[in-house]
Amino acid sequence: MQLTGFGTSEDLGRVNASLVLRTVLAEGPLARAEIADRLGLRRATVTRVAARLLEIGVLREGEPNRSNPGRPTVPLELGGHDRVVLTAHFGTRELRVGAVNIRGEMLQESRRPYRDPAPEAVAEMAREGLGALAGELRGGETRVLGVGASIAGWVDPATGVVARFAPLGWTDVPFGRLLTDELELPHYFDQTVRGLALAERMIGAARGHQDLLMLWVGNVLGAAIVNEGAARQGPRGAAGSIAHFPVGEHGHACECGRTDCLQQLLTDGAILRDAIGAGIVRPSASIRTLVQVAEDGDEAAMALMAERAAVLGRAAAAMSNLINPPLVVAGGLVPTARGFMPAFTEAFERAGERGGEIRVAGSAFGDAAPTIASAAFLLDAFYRDPFAFDPA
Ligand SMILES: [Zn+2]
Repeated sequence: MQLTGFGTSEDLGRVNASLVLRTVLAEGPLARAEIADRLGLRRATVTRVAARLLEIGVLREGEPNRSNPGRPTVPLELGGHDRVVLTAHFGTRELRVGAVNIRGEMLQESRRPYRDPAPEAVAEMAREGLGALAGELRGGETRVLGVGASIAGWVDPATGVVARFAPLGWTDVPFGRLLTDELELPHYFDQTVRGLALAERMIGAARGHQDLLMLWVGNVLGAAIVNEGAARQGPRGAAGSIAHFPVGEHGHACECGRTDCLQQLLTDGAILRDAIGAGIVRPSASIRTLVQVAEDGDEAAMALMAERAAVLGRAAAAMSNLINPPLVVAGGLVPTARGFMPAFTEAFERAGERGGEIRVAGSAFGDAAPTIASAAFLLDAFYRDPFAFDPA
């Protein structure tokens, strides 16, 4: 929470509004008295703040609860489903353009492979997609709060400079500027796994957690280390690179010139390569097919998934021994497939040596994670100060 400038009663009202709204987002619907109890605020304060949030339509009153004796209580729930964040996610091979509402629910998503990997061309493609989607939504009741974008590479969110994004061959590209220069809406551009960690904390598997280790397995591998509510960025935004984490002796040569790197066992591409090599799926199969085959109970596919889950579990245990988080969340299509988390958890538990119990969980967002992650920073800004997005 941003408390700078805190001091006037107006500021205090905004802080309280943010607290009330976040409580309803995470735990709602709730009666005013329940919100007051959870936050340690006076009931009159909650009533006053809620009135302003009801007025702008971000909260609404639910069905009165008549089960208790006395006056029925009226729960407050999140309103404002017409408010959306437009999103752009820059993956290794494709662009996802989407829309996410203020509950963090993905309303739309379209995916297109890159025509041309040049930064200008990719930015142009995203602007076209976002413009088309905004035009489509404008006809209805929808209000666009802003644009949230994320990339699976090293990025400095303060400058928007992508320090490195190997899949497209980018180094020190001022991509944030290319993307948002002419954009008149509020916008955020950051790294996907950091966005995902924030989304998990707001509405997913890490609700109520200020500290966690977030892992991502997709076309790339990544991690976010969240400490006291802030994800570590480090020089050039490169924190969380686990692709070249050394694991065992598998002997696969890596693009970095070494062997035995984690990404040679654990990206979608690496798992698929080995499944095809073992004859588990056809050479033309996608990772989605492989996950489906495992979910359908194919023993060889399940065994491969379990083996890779154990590799990630041991790597996560080594990282956790170092940073000692209370929670580890794993996201991506493979980690959220059936059977992955039990094998991951078992290997993680066995390899750990740590101060206290560490809970592990799968991401709440499955395959929608990149789009929801892209919306997270803008959603967070909205929940910090909903009135700033409602000038009327
Ligand atoms: Zn490597």
